[in-house]
Amino acid sequence: MKARTADGAPKEVYLSFVSSLFDNRKTLFTGMVVHILTYFVVYHKTQDPIFILLSLAFAAIFANRIYWFRRFTNVDKSRWTLDDIRSWELRYVLGAASTAAILGIGSGYSILAYEDTFVELACISVTMASMVSIVGRNYGSSLAVNLQSLACCVPIIIGALFANDPYKMLLSVMLVPFMLTTQAMAKGVREFLYENVIASREMKKIAGSFDTALNNMTHGLIMLDTERRIQVINRKACQLLHLGDRERLKGCDLDVALRYGVRHTFVDGSMPDLIQKQLTQLVDGSLSRAVMAFSDDLVLEFSANRRPEGGVVLIFEDVTARAQAERRILHMVRFDALTGLPQRSYFGELVRERIEQEQEAVSTGFLLLDVDGFKHVNDMKGYATGDRLLVAIGKRLMQVAPGDIVGHLVGDQFVVFASSGEGGEALIERLRGIHADLGGTYEIDDTTFRISFNAGCLILEQGALADEWQIKLDLALFESKSRGSGILTVFAEEMDARYVERQKLKDDLREALENRALSVVYQPMFTADGSRIACCEALARWNHPGKGFIPPNIFIQIAEEMGVVREVTHFVIEQACRDAARWPEGVGVSVNLSVQDLRDDGILAVVRKALAETGLRASRLHLEVTESSLIEELATVRDILEELRRWGITIAIDDFGTGFSSLSYLDSLPADVVKIDRSFVRDIGEDSRRLKLLHGIVHLSRQLDLQIVIEGVETEEQLALINRHRCADLIQGYVYAMPQSATDIMDLVERTKKRGRGRMHVA
Ligand code: C2E
Ligand code: MG
Ligand code: MG
Repeated sequence: MKARTADGAPKEVYLSFVSSLFDNRKTLFTGMVVHILTYFVVYHKTQDPIFILLSLAFAAIFANRIYWFRRFTNVDKSRWTLDDIRSWELRYVLGAASTAAILGIGSGYSILAYEDTFVELACISVTMASMVSIVGRNYGSSLAVNLQSLACCVPIIIGALFANDPYKMLLSVMLVPFMLTTQAMAKGVREFLYENVIASREMKKIAGSFDTALNNMTHGLIMLDTERRIQVINRKACQLLHLGDRERLKGCDLDVALRYGVRHTFVDGSMPDLIQKQLTQLVDGSLSRAVMAFSDDLVLEFSANRRPEGGVVLIFEDVTARAQAERRILHMVRFDALTGLPQRSYFGELVRERIEQEQEAVSTGFLLLDVDGFKHVNDMKGYATGDRLLVAIGKRLMQVAPGDIVGHLVGDQFVVFASSGEGGEALIERLRGIHADLGGTYEIDDTTFRISFNAGCLILEQGALADEWQIKLDLALFESKSRGSGILTVFAEEMDARYVERQKLKDDLREALENRALSVVYQPMFTADGSRIACCEALARWNHPGKGFIPPNIFIQIAEEMGVVREVTHFVIEQACRDAARWPEGVGVSVNLSVQDLRDDGILAVVRKALAETGLRASRLHLEVTESSLIEELATVRDILEELRRWGITIAIDDFGTGFSSLSYLDSLPADVVKIDRSFVRDIGEDSRRLKLLHGIVHLSRQLDLQIVIEGVETEEQLALINRHRCADLIQGYVYAMPQSATDIMDLVERTKKRGRGRMHVA
């Protein structure tokens, strides 16, 4: 607990009162000179040595008091206790009361001993003058006031009472209220000062706490007056805004302070317009919150509160880390991590912005690019190489389409948005140029890739960006893909119609599958001399109720798109096994599998069930897979095919020579038969090089112990050439037989058997 005096005053207040007693030595000195001079003059007039003695007493006391005054000034008061302060008060009171007592005694003596007006007047007037000054000098100590006033008045009263003069007696009585009034006045002054000292101490304390709180805030705070001048600013604000000494900023214009503070963070040293505008809005009340980016490393969030008496309080915090994190997240959302190009939605935003900016552009358009056979790259070289290829493509695209907006959509698809001051045709030409330039060779990980792109192109009606731009581009790309590779197709409205038509066809196919409305026909594979039917290929047929016969390469593709091709396969396997079971023992049946059938081993159960239910021996069942399905998931596919072979099923590679794999990994495939695509047969009559090529493939396949089926043999000439060069083990083609029903196959088998050796033609 803090030390207090008996009347409850804190030590510091008590000390300040006692200190006030020792102040103002000038008045003390003046008083003393006046006292000594007066008493000297009185002595001169009266020749009474008592006045000389009193003068000397004044001087001695004065010397003593001056000594203590000096000591008081120089002594260290910081550790003083209440007792120390009290002893100093007593020292003062002793000196002051002694002086007062001499004055009182001198006055009383002059009244008693002299009937001289001058002597009485001189002594009493200096005493009364001292009395008057008691309040001014001694309010800090009630003891000093009381003792001095008593010491002054009591000897005068005594002198007056004993003077034998009724008027003087009356005067002595009147001195009593004077004395009491002096004491009361001093008390009043002391109490008034005491209250004020206490109040100002409290205020100082509050101001100190407020200052501490202000300077320990985690937020910056600036209080502005109506003229935008700084009234209050805390330490954090100075730190955040790089401002100097807090005290010097008071009264300073905010703009000026900021310009000197955060100036170095601005690129050209001047405050950016946006920040200037935001500050003005905060101050004038039109904005209550604002995030201000002074630099990449200094982002502050301000909030403004208007003060009822005018002016504003700005509170702000450092949100740099948050802003940087937001920027990073935004970047991640906007840009593809691999290629660094804008992603789909941000690409769309950029395009919209560009269209708004370039109102005068005559034509605008998109180019959607899809890497041909990208999956092949991934499967053959691994995903890391695939990724590097995409990065290289992205880089080249930026180079070949400077000034255009380039984006990375998904996987291996890139997109370009371009505008032109010329017409649509010129723009298409430019986009064709980009398509051509992007293709070519890429060197990745010491491997040279020859890359081509299928592309869709869309030219927009002037300035209009409808939401379906992506669908239209996809349709154009789809068109390119269905025609081959390295093709660019410009979107045309009929593609939309075709798309709608295709969607309708999907619904119809779903219905056909539900109603088991598909059928199966069979095309025989004859021995080369045509003497025997070894196997028949099952071919699915769909007779659409409205559109008639739909070719299988169309509806199978649709079924693959819809993800229902397994149902087609399931249906065909079941039907083919059932039909073949009724055929003579030596005739097998061959069923086409789709890529999707080989994605997991579900096909095994389907085959096992079909064989079990129909009783067909596994050795009579052949399954045809295309090269592309082998490439897709090579490891899984290999496992499935090996399992099927273990059961005795024959595996054939269909359409050989049209895919990617070609001869290079033929030996690693789990296959028994190679069905050489009809494209190798088509020109063998006219072009001897084609025949050599066919011969070469056949030779290699034989080396690998693969049985050879030549597909699509249409003419006698082709047949003769194939046989002359012993190219085929089996022949499938219109030259021998068209696809036909299961019952017709039975007849055909019978007729072929009856004819025996020698070739026959069956329409
Ligand atoms: P593919 O497996 O290569 O079947 C052979 C195709 O060649 C059949 O066409 C057949 O009619 C045709 N063809 C046979 N000989 C000749 C000929 O001498 N000249 C010409 N120009 N063509 C000949 P189709 O039936 O139109 O089938 C086309 C493709 O549809 C098939 O090619 C096969 O890839 C697919 N496909 C047919 N049925 C199914 C099925 O049940 N499942 C699956 N996944 N695909 C099937
Ligand atoms: Mg086939
Ligand atoms: Mg084929």
